[in-house]
Amino acid sequence: MIYLSKNVIHHILKDGSERYPEECCGIIFGKLNESGEKTAEYAETAANGSVKSENYHRFEINPEIMLQAELTARKKKLDIIGFYHSHPDCEAFPSEFDRTHALPVYSYIIMSVVKGKAVKTKSFVLSAEDMQFSEEKIIICNKE
Ligand SMILES: [Zn+2]
Repeated sequence: MIYLSKNVIHHILKDGSERYPEECCGIIFGKLNESGEKTAEYAETAANGSVKSENYHRFEINPEIMLQAELTARKKKLDIIGFYHSHPDCEAFPSEFDRTHALPVYSYIIMSVVKGKAVKTKSFVLSAEDMQFSEEKIIICNKE
């Protein structure tokens, strides 16, 4: 289960429609408790590190950006709990590329953006046992 603050969901939806028809991507910061529940408190846009010609259907985050994100997390006393990206004119389900580039524990939020408008947002977690994604429940909380 992942709790998203209003700030975080607004950020994700805005990024998805603004960067359409390219895929947007970004990093989600928050807290992870012992039972595996996550609370997302802050999200940051990241440049899509994938080659330009592939930007419409895949995303990658460069190591330099990840390092910067680690520093941001430390400063804010939060953890990196996941990543978001958009699927322009495509369903909010992980691609094979997404699966093979994912790591367990993190949340992968995928939003379907159709004609510039975010229509569906889902979150997935990769299982460490079979390396397959399963959907995770998103709860929007009132907290800013
Ligand atoms: Zn994807």
